[in-house]
Amino acid sequence: MREIERKRILVTGGAGFLGSHLCDRLLAMGHDVLCIDNFYTGSKANIAHHHGEPFFEVLRHDITFPLYVEVDEIYNLACPASPIHYQFDPVQTTKTSVHGAINMLGLAKRLKAKIFQASTSEVYGDPAVHPQTEDYCGNVNPLGLRACYDEGKRCAETLFMDYRRQHGLTIKVARIFNTYGPRMHPNDGRVVSSFIMQALMGEPITIYGDGGQTRSFCYVDDMIEAFVRLMATPDDFPGPVNLGNPEETTMLELAEKVIDLTGSSSSLVFRPLPSDDPLKRRPDITLARARLEWQPRIGLDEGLGRTIAYFARLLTDKPHLSAVPLH
Ligand code: NAD
Ligand code: UDP
Repeated sequence: MREIERKRILVTGGAGFLGSHLCDRLLAMGHDVLCIDNFYTGSKANIAHHHGEPFFEVLRHDITFPLYVEVDEIYNLACPASPIHYQFDPVQTTKTSVHGAINMLGLAKRLKAKIFQASTSEVYGDPAVHPQTEDYCGNVNPLGLRACYDEGKRCAETLFMDYRRQHGLTIKVARIFNTYGPRMHPNDGRVVSSFIMQALMGEPITIYGDGGQTRSFCYVDDMIEAFVRLMATPDDFPGPVNLGNPEETTMLELAEKVIDLTGSSSSLVFRPLPSDDPLKRRPDITLARARLEWQPRIGLDEGLGRTIAYFARLLTDKPHLSAVPLH
C-alpha cells in the first residue's frame, strides 16, 4: 500500500543487515528502491524475497568506484560493520568509508539529492564522556586496529559537513549505536550473533575481557524507524544525531540473558579483550527524541527473543552452520 509519493531511493549496502531492512521499509512505503552492494558482508538471501518486484532493483557495485544512476534520495550504508569484517581488509574499509562517501556525495551533488550517512558510535572511540552526546568529539586511537573504521567514518562525517557547507547539499548524519536483529550474519563475530549462535549450538559463550564492558543494544525495527524519520526532518537539520537504545548492559549480563532465553546449557569462557575495545557505550538520545519524536520501543528481552527465533530457524534450514566467526 502506498503511503506517500513514490521516490527513487538508492540504498548502498542494501543487501546487508540494516540495508535489507531499510529496503523492506522503503518498498512498503511505496518507493522505488535501487539496492547496490558488492556482497562483501551482505547476501542475496537478505533481499531474495523482493526478487521480481517491479519497484526493486539490485546492482552489484563497489562504492569505492563512481556510480552513475538517477535517484531522488540516497541512504549510504555500505561498509562492513563488525570488527572482524572491517579489520580483515582495513585499507578497503577506509576506502569504502572515504572514497565511497566522496562518490556518493558527488552523485548527490549532481542530482541535488538528499543523502543519509550511516555513521557510528565508534566516532566516540573509547569514550571519556558517558552517556555520549553529539557534541562530544570522542577519544579515538588513530593508529589502532579499529581506526580503519573509526577514522574512516569520522572522515566521512567531515566530508558530509563540507559538502553541505561548500555545495549546499542536504545531508542527514546518523550516529548508529549497536543494533541487532534478524539477518545479522551468523558468523560476523558481533556479540549478539555470536552469543546466540553459541547458545543455540551448546558451545561455550566467549566473553572478551571480564565481561564488565557495556554496550546499549537497539532492535533493528526501532533503528529503521529512526532512519526514515531522520530523512524526513527539515533540510536545515543535518545532524549528527545519536540513534540507539539507552538501555545499557554488560557483556556478562547479555550472555546470561541469552542463556536464559535460549534455555541453553552453554558455559562461559573468558578470552582476552581485543585492543581498543571501548569499555562503555550508551547513547544520549535527547536530540533524537526532540527532533525525530522517536525513542526505541522494543526492549532487549523482546528483541533478543525475535533474534533467537531467527537464528534457530537458520540453524534448522542450514544445520552445517558453525558458531565460529569467519575471516
Ligand atoms: P553489514 O555488514 O551487514 O552491511 C554492510 C553492507 O555493505 C553489506 O551488504 C556489504 O556487502 C556492503 N558493502 C561493504 N563494502 C561495500 C562497498 N565498498 N561497496 C558496496 N557495498 C559494500 O552491516 P550493517 O550492520 O548492516 O551496517 C550497515 C551500516 O550501518 C554500515 O555503514 C555500518 O558502519 C553502520 N552501522 C551499523 C551498526 C550496527 O550495529 N549494525 C552500528 C553503527 C553503524
Ligand atoms: N564480545 C564478546 N564476545 C564475543 C564478541 C564480542 O565479549 O564473542 C564483546 C566485545 O569485546 C565488545 C562487545 O562484546 O566489548 C561488543 O562487541 P561487538 O563486536 O558486537 O561490537 P562493538 O565492539 O563494535 O561495539
